[in-house]
Amino acid sequence: LSQDLLDLIELPSETPDGVHIPLYANTGLLSDISPSLRCGAEGVGLYRTEVPFMIRDRFPGEEEQFRIYRQVLEAFAPSPVTVRTLDIGGDKALPYFPVEEENPFLGWRGIRIALDHPEIFLTQVRAILRANAGLDNLQLMLPMISSVNEIDEAAGLVRRAHEELVEEGEQTTYPKIGVMIEVPSAVYQVPAMSKRVDFFSIGSNDLTQYLLAVDRNNAQVSDLYNALHPAVLRAIHQVVVEAHAHQRPVSVCGEMAGDPAAALLLLGMGVDSLSMSSASLLRVKWVLRSFNTEKMQSLLEETWLLEDATAVRALLHNSLDEAG
Ligand code: PEP
Ligand code: MG
Repeated sequence: LSQDLLDLIELPSETPDGVHIPLYANTGLLSDISPSLRCGAEGVGLYRTEVPFMIRDRFPGEEEQFRIYRQVLEAFAPSPVTVRTLDIGGDKALPYFPVEEENPFLGWRGIRIALDHPEIFLTQVRAILRANAGLDNLQLMLPMISSVNEIDEAAGLVRRAHEELVEEGEQTTYPKIGVMIEVPSAVYQVPAMSKRVDFFSIGSNDLTQYLLAVDRNNAQVSDLYNALHPAVLRAIHQVVVEAHAHQRPVSVCGEMAGDPAAALLLLGMGVDSLSMSSASLLRVKWVLRSFNTEKMQSLLEETWLLEDATAVRALLHNSLDEAG
């Protein structure tokens, strides 16, 4: 990293016109904690709990999970940590929980597995809620939500875990609950989901894959995978507008949030925070500190006239170049 970027660590993540946009880190490994803190992350916007599950050879029990989650929540307290419940299936396989499917990305993954195996979900939620005791910086997030029924069912299990813990004398509070918007059907259900959740986080990796019908990991079609595709941008914009109409904050936690060009548009749309790998934090902070809100909004307006991702990227790179 250049000295210019390192100098930004201590500076607020604020636009020149004074809008503060928290920049959060995506993590999954305990070893990511100190680099994220060093780069000035204001919390964790996506803690991928499947990562500790993937590097073991059996399901970690409640105690083992509790110790891991506690370390993350403690390291960032009082800053918020968004802990996402287990998101396995698709490309994320557990060696000790084999799932054989012809279409894994359209199959048994994320919240679907959790609801079919409530014992796995309840153990995890108990560990997460216990880890939050006395800290209260937890936000609980559900992956791969495609309908409100899944939210109701999952929230029912969270309530049950919380009640059990209270009966056992644990000092746990009921957490804020949010959902990932990463399946196209979720884009169109923000009003109904707003009645059920406290916040939204857009998973642009999966949302791009599902909107464009392009496998996010297939090199053969990687030219077609582009989060700046006008259809993806319109979907994200709609989510932001509708979530705000229902007083719910929106974050973006897919790779797109860490792309300085894409970040310009997301900020123009009015997203409330961005979460990214810590390696991208300072570059995005530089963008944030270089562009007025009005400028980012007018770039977004120009984008709506463009017809493909190449044109969008060219426009954004032009603006970034002009800014230095
Ligand atoms: C996403 O889909 O954008 C996301 C953040 O989740 P993951 O990359 O873990 O699927
Ligand atoms: Mg995802």
